[in-house]
Amino acid sequence: MSAAVEEKVRPCPQCGAEIRTDSRFTTWCAACDWNVDPEKPEGTPGRVERWQRSLAARHGERLLAEVAAGGSLRPRRDTASVAAQGLALAVHGVTVALAAGALWFLVTGWGGAGTVAAVFLGVLAWTLRPRFPGLPDDGPVLRRADAPELFALVDEVAAVVGTRGVDVIAVDDEVNASVTTYDLRGRRLLTLGLPLWEILTPQQRIALLGHELGHYSNGDTRHGLLVGNALHSLTTWRYYVAPPADPTLVEWAVNLLLLVPRLLIEGTSALLDRLTLRATQRAEYLADAMAARAGSTGAAAAVMDCFLVSDSATVMLRREANARQVVRPGSAGRASGDGLWERLRAHMESIPPGEYERQRRAGAARGHSVDSTHPPTHLRRRCLLTGAPLPAAVVADAGRAARVDAELAGARDVLARRIVRDGLGH
Ligand SMILES: [Zn+2]
Ligand SMILES: [Zn+2]
Repeated sequence: MSAAVEEKVRPCPQCGAEIRTDSRFTTWCAACDWNVDPEKPEGTPGRVERWQRSLAARHGERLLAEVAAGGSLRPRRDTASVAAQGLALAVHGVTVALAAGALWFLVTGWGGAGTVAAVFLGVLAWTLRPRFPGLPDDGPVLRRADAPELFALVDEVAAVVGTRGVDVIAVDDEVNASVTTYDLRGRRLLTLGLPLWEILTPQQRIALLGHELGHYSNGDTRHGLLVGNALHSLTTWRYYVAPPADPTLVEWAVNLLLLVPRLLIEGTSALLDRLTLRATQRAEYLADAMAARAGSTGAAAAVMDCFLVSDSATVMLRREANARQVVRPGSAGRASGDGLWERLRAHMESIPPGEYERQRRAGAARGHSVDSTHPPTHLRRRCLLTGAPLPAAVVADAGRAARVDAELAGARDVLARRIVRDGLGH
């Protein structure tokens, strides 16, 4: 693969220093940071955004200092996140009150206007109800019997981070991984993005599992569902009280009446967002600490480096999908997705160190974003590397890694074929 790469040397247009260019990556200058972040959004931020950014940066740094000090590595909910939970419960309380009202009208006013009121309130409450994510219906889904070795590995990591394992493992085509609960009984779903899994070493995979399962032991999924559903309910409310585009006189009057509820809804959503931001960022630091405990500090940091260049994996897979449109004789194997994961791994291994460094500097320059649920990667990395490095509590062994690979072989084939046929995200 690297044979096809065009490497040249040219002077930096800004400072004249010598830069090595690689046709597959952004050309930039390590001496003066020329072109370090060409994808950076254009334009100067407004006053409100600048204020929000500085607020986010300040609280991000305080959070980092607090977490790095190690004193708060126990799962703990701060005042803001307790307030967020209270607010979310109040939002769901309104839905419950509507449902109770519907029931009351149904019982006391059967046959008359009460029935109409009951139906109205009942339908309203139904649209505002909390929802649970279902199991994915289109991708490979593994249960314990399908992949005993992978589930055993997950169990072992779960025990290290102080929780139980998962009930279902789904495999998809994202360069990511996630956890959630998918029903009222709190059954657990772990979603592994195969492009991420495939480019990690067995030890790094253990760190990744440590991070994801750490979200369970910190109570983040429960918290996320409660708050997420409240935000969803508020969005539905906002839709109901939105002013019409071209109001008649009557609508205009109704509009005026709805002004107060509208402000209340907007205010509650904004407050809930603010209160949750800190908790979700903190949760990521705690999950990173779990990653280090399970897979070692070194492996956890390596996973983060992988995230730095994850866009490159996406670009490579897209290119494979596009290449399929122009099938040449003799490339039938490629078109069926054969060897896709091996080519992805080779591609990631060929990324020059300069690209990692560029991403690191670009991230540091962009700083905290206002609405991101994740702290900037360079801060997560710094936090991870303060203090004595942790050894791995779960050590990868080659035999097990091979058995896990064998269990994932089916999913690997299905997804490779689908990626080259339909592209990513199908
Ligand atoms: Zn330069
Ligand atoms: Zn996370």
